[in-house]
Amino acid sequence: MADLQKRLCVGCHLSVADGYEAMGATALELDASTFAFFTRNPRGGGVRALDEDDVARLRLLMSDHGFGRLVAHAPYTMNLCSAKEETVSFARRSMAEDLAHLELLPGNYYNFHPGSHVKQGVDEGVRLICKGLNEVLVPGQATTVLLETMAGKGSEVGRSFEELARILDGVRHDELMGVCLDTCHVWDAGYDIREGLDEVLEEFDRVLGLERLKALHLNDSKNARGSHKDRHERLGEGALGLGTFRRIVGHPVLRELPMVLETPNDLEGYGREISLLRTLAADSGQER
Ligand code: FE
Ligand code: FE
Ligand code: ZN
Repeated sequence: MADLQKRLCVGCHLSVADGYEAMGATALELDASTFAFFTRNPRGGGVRALDEDDVARLRLLMSDHGFGRLVAHAPYTMNLCSAKEETVSFARRSMAEDLAHLELLPGNYYNFHPGSHVKQGVDEGVRLICKGLNEVLVPGQATTVLLETMAGKGSEVGRSFEELARILDGVRHDELMGVCLDTCHVWDAGYDIREGLDEVLEEFDRVLGLERLKALHLNDSKNARGSHKDRHERLGEGALGLGTFRRIVGHPVLRELPMVLETPNDLEGYGREISLLRTLAADSGQER
């Protein structure tokens, strides 16, 4: 019974604009026990000098309040498998810098979109992503790097578990790697987590191994299954519906993972969704 009462590790995406400790304080106000943030401006590439004292204060806050692992997010513009050489080298440099910074916040996750191969084909995309990761990952680093499951918009790599498995197969230090499952993305990619959550997880296990699953992005979807659109919706207001999220927070494997909301919401809306998820989790605990 003890594990049923364990607190859900849930939070939302927060702005890093006011620093690291400020994100922790905001998370507490929202009753969150994890959060995500962009490691740099998601559109541009700039990164400001890291205030080490600020980061240290966040670490203290996190341990005082029993936070789970954070799920930092690489900028969307980072494309390890672009057709442009300078984009690829910029992506590798950014990732290396981000990982170096995250050494100040050890034991957390760094999630990234594998990339878009832009007409080069999946094979070349996978090859470039692996090459980048093999250049950037440092054996013994304190951060686990997560591949995000993608909706398959345009030429996105990572639209199927098989594509993610191919990337993991090509990474030398794959002990530093895991997967972050985005509920909107897998649904848009065609996986029926609404009616067949267990079957999808069985497939994940067969193709990737469930031990690779390290974090979840909880988003409802504005579109039908297989649409490849990637438009997030608030929980319960999209095609997935509240029942899907009830099953997720009640699931023996999934409920142990950090869960991050990326729904179209302001902070107040995030607070409501966090409390909704805690309620759903508590209900499912009683039902067992
Ligand atoms: Fe993402
Ligand atoms: Fe996501
Ligand atoms: Zn998305």
